[in-house]
Amino acid sequence: MIVEQVWTGNAYRNFNYLIVCPESGEAMAVDPLDHQKCLDAAKLKGWEITQVLNTHEHFDHIGGNAAVIAATGAKLLAHANAKAAIPGIDRGLNAGDVIKIGKTVELEALDTPGHTMSHICLLSHTDAPALFCGDTLFNAGAGNCHNGGHPAELYATFASQLAKLPGDTLIYPGHDYLVNNLKFTLDREPDNAKAKGLLGDVADQDPNAALVSTLAMEKDINTFFRLTSPSVIAGLRAKFPDLPDDPDPKTVFMKLRELRNSW
Ligand SMILES: [Zn+2]
Ligand SMILES: [Zn+2]
Repeated sequence: MIVEQVWTGNAYRNFNYLIVCPESGEAMAVDPLDHQKCLDAAKLKGWEITQVLNTHEHFDHIGGNAAVIAATGAKLLAHANAKAAIPGIDRGLNAGDVIKIGKTVELEALDTPGHTMSHICLLSHTDAPALFCGDTLFNAGAGNCHNGGHPAELYATFASQLAKLPGDTLIYPGHDYLVNNLKFTLDREPDNAKAKGLLGDVADQDPNAALVSTLAMEKDINTFFRLTSPSVIAGLRAKFPDLPDDPDPKTVFMKLRELRNSW
């Protein structure tokens, strides 16, 4: 499996992806908002885009569909429940569905509600798994729930699905928010040495050659995975004096999400 991360350079800081079968050159474009960059990248490498997949229905993820499909005849895949929100879906996806690309690539659809209620993440069936997580999980952060989502559902997705994936899972999010998210982690957990070190390393990284994190790394530097950290809990208590003595992880997650909304 070849993964080409396409940095759009737009104001929303979107990452688009091409996932490619190295044997046949067939490719799937994930959320190809910058359709020209995606089409150009495929042409340069001699790849044929045969499928487009949307992780969810927001415009900055589906806005390039029409142009890519017009140029390639690709089929459109998205969450089965997104049919009213995304025009022209050829294949509606449910949890556990397997998506094949060419001869060698297999990905599994995860049903991951929270950012929106019809959000798909893709997990590759490869030696080192890769997770294409749209706006559910970001490097050092979590998606917001302002436009059709629910923080309790996002917590359930993190706890019951994402946190259980292997530590070496590579993380490919829908936006580059790493630096800002690390600053939020450090605002909530000032003694997080790994987050501090990483911020120094990536503060001026080129998003065209962005760091690809792993789930194990996220558990160290992403405050939304650090729900039992005494330092995170102490910091929350300063903001929410009625926080229980030993808050459960869901409460911590919800409070962190609430603080992040206005941070
Ligand atoms: Zn979104
Ligand atoms: Zn987005």
